[in-house]
Amino acid sequence: MKDLPPTRAEVAFVGRSNAGKSSAINTLANRTRLAFVSKTPGRTQHINFFDLGDERYMVDLPGYGYAEVPEAVRRHWVALLGRYLQTRDSLIGLILIMDIRHPLKDLDIQMLDFFRDTGRPVHILLSKADKLSRQEQQKTLAAVKRALAEYPGVTLQLFSSLKKSGVEEVESVVEGWFSE
Ligand code: GDP
Repeated sequence: MKDLPPTRAEVAFVGRSNAGKSSAINTLANRTRLAFVSKTPGRTQHINFFDLGDERYMVDLPGYGYAEVPEAVRRHWVALLGRYLQTRDSLIGLILIMDIRHPLKDLDIQMLDFFRDTGRPVHILLSKADKLSRQEQQKTLAAVKRALAEYPGVTLQLFSSLKKSGVEEVESVVEGWFSE
């Protein structure tokens, strides 16, 4: 992680593998409001930097929790992610993507714990919201909100890349962070 390119400000996207992170980033990257200009590979494998202009970036971190990855490799990767989240000065906020049907798994909590002491904001996308009925969506949203009561800097919303719902909400959160 130490050879990541320097940036003025960046917002990172994390989530378990298959949570819908790539779809969410693509959905956001395809919009013009955030003025994405290019996708440039980071020097470290698997980390993509999306150039927003003005030395600001969205950072696509690799998904965690791949079942087939050996425990030692998984632990190593989680430690690297932890170091990045805790020490990256230009990281101004974190977007955590969780499949609405499988929220708050152990590794998700670990990411929140890593980031908590930075005092910087986390915004959670409950992704693939279209997989649940509206009533179930609201129920899960409320339950996750309750479960995260002890994480003061955390906000959350429903999101669906398929239905393109919740897009403006996350955009305005990210824009707000960048303009602080
Ligand atoms: P990643 O591993 O977190 O990057 O997840 P992907 O973005 O690759 O998505 C994993 C799977 O979930 C793929 O089969 C996607 O088509 C599907 N998926 C992603 N977003 C949505 C969504 O909003 N709704 C539905 N129904 N499926 C989605």
